[in-house]
Amino acid sequence: MSTAAAVSALLIHPPTVRACEPPAGIAMLAGVLRAAGIGCRLWDANLEGQLALIRKAAPAEATDTWTKRAVRDRDDHLRRMRDGRAFENPDTYRRIVGDLDRLLANGPWKASGRHLGLVDATDDQLQPTRSADLLRAAEYPLEDPFAAVLESRLERLMAEDMPRVVGISLNYLSQALSAFAFAGLVRRVAPGVRLVLGGGLVTTWMSHPEWKSPFGGLFDDLVSGPGEVPLLNIVKNSIADLPMPAPSKRVETAGPIAAFDLLPIQEYLSPGTVLPVSASSGCYWRRCSFCPETSEGNAWRPVDPEALLQHVRRLTDNIRPRMIHWLDNALSPAFLRALIVQPPGIPWFGFARFEPFLAESGVADGLRRSGCVMLQLGLESGDQQVLDALGKGIRLETAGKILAELHRAGIGTYVYVLFGTPAEDEAAARRTLDWVARHAGIIDFLNLAIFNLPVNAVEAAGLEVRQFSEGDLPLYLEFAHPRGWNRGAVRRFLDMEFRRAEPIRPVLRRDPPFFTSSHAPFFCMGMK
Ligand code: SF4
Repeated sequence: MSTAAAVSALLIHPPTVRACEPPAGIAMLAGVLRAAGIGCRLWDANLEGQLALIRKAAPAEATDTWTKRAVRDRDDHLRRMRDGRAFENPDTYRRIVGDLDRLLANGPWKASGRHLGLVDATDDQLQPTRSADLLRAAEYPLEDPFAAVLESRLERLMAEDMPRVVGISLNYLSQALSAFAFAGLVRRVAPGVRLVLGGGLVTTWMSHPEWKSPFGGLFDDLVSGPGEVPLLNIVKNSIADLPMPAPSKRVETAGPIAAFDLLPIQEYLSPGTVLPVSASSGCYWRRCSFCPETSEGNAWRPVDPEALLQHVRRLTDNIRPRMIHWLDNALSPAFLRALIVQPPGIPWFGFARFEPFLAESGVADGLRRSGCVMLQLGLESGDQQVLDALGKGIRLETAGKILAELHRAGIGTYVYVLFGTPAEDEAAARRTLDWVARHAGIIDFLNLAIFNLPVNAVEAAGLEVRQFSEGDLPLYLEFAHPRGWNRGAVRRFLDMEFRRAEPIRPVLRRDPPFFTSSHAPFFCMGMK
């Protein structure tokens, strides 16, 4: 979809990430270009690619009963994901998402070692942490199933619009191989176009002190950090020979509006449109030793709550979302209070820290009235010493009170627990098990993760480290655990004890497969 003005830029959101909400990053970039009078087209190649491959799976190719059923029911499954019938019953939901994932997993690409699914994409040969492999993906783009199925679509877009700039937004490792395949395809179809790569993963790569681009001349520009200003300048320079566009006549008192209208908002795999919005970038706490926000030193940039809520009201008037997804790493107490005072009028969910104010009288009820259906909360450990060593800044006693308050008010909780940090040992992990088991009745969903040490983490000093993944673009380091609590032992503990603990099992079973926290709020709305 494109704006009415001549299209100067095409922005691509590559596979694979969960296709359950429109991508906020390229929508915001398009909003900035539009405010400057510059026409732009947004292309969600992730959504289109997944739908194309799901529809491409042919009955004749299906050999087993499960895949045959998935092929037979696929159109009905997609309808049910969008109209909400898939969410009426957790078992129905499980069957439907399982079938859709299977269609992506079991295509002809499986034989060549490409493993696709609803949330991830991997390759037996190519590693997204190896620049040589990424460049190979760009050199042979049609080996990528998404680029191959969307090749003619890209050709049409480029022929229709003849954009001067193509931007690719790369945020997750699961997108990297396809992002480079699309870059290679763009270079083939339109060799002279200005090709820009930006997004969260690129920012992480470029935050390394010894960063030097290994991508040769594939891209004209690599953008680190917020892309709005750099992209606007790149596009302006690229169209400097054309008559200057007139800036948008709209009165944008709260800044440019994200251009979600340029995306196929009815097509995403959720029961109604989910509107993703950021109230800040970075993190206001930025002290947790295990977190990339701390190691990358990203600044916290909050948006003025008044202006943002005005912006959101205009967006919701335009696109009538069913849910707001706050994308912040942690919603600040000031912003949560602003939501209580000025409810956005739409159900919402997002990440918050276990801040003591959440346990104050009336706060949880106020949040519930403002539309909060679920909060995602990083507990990380049920051992106070571990929490203190991690710089987490929370008290377990307070966390317990907050969970009880939120539960009482009818707000779902999605709690994140992290095992195997340098400060943890087996005894501490068992204390976490006890804490979670004691609070299982007031936790709706649980996410369990094993600690990865970010490459630039302050904690790396003093640990015996080596590279975690092969390649010159690693995100994490492997380390010898100072207390011998290594990944293998942690994994065994999780599989043999934690996941089997009686009060915890039903909580884990509630987690919606594949879409997890993205779809959990819809179950909260039904459950509460
Ligand atoms: S609160 Fe969350 S985002 Fe912020 S530093 Fe800690 S882990 Fe990172």
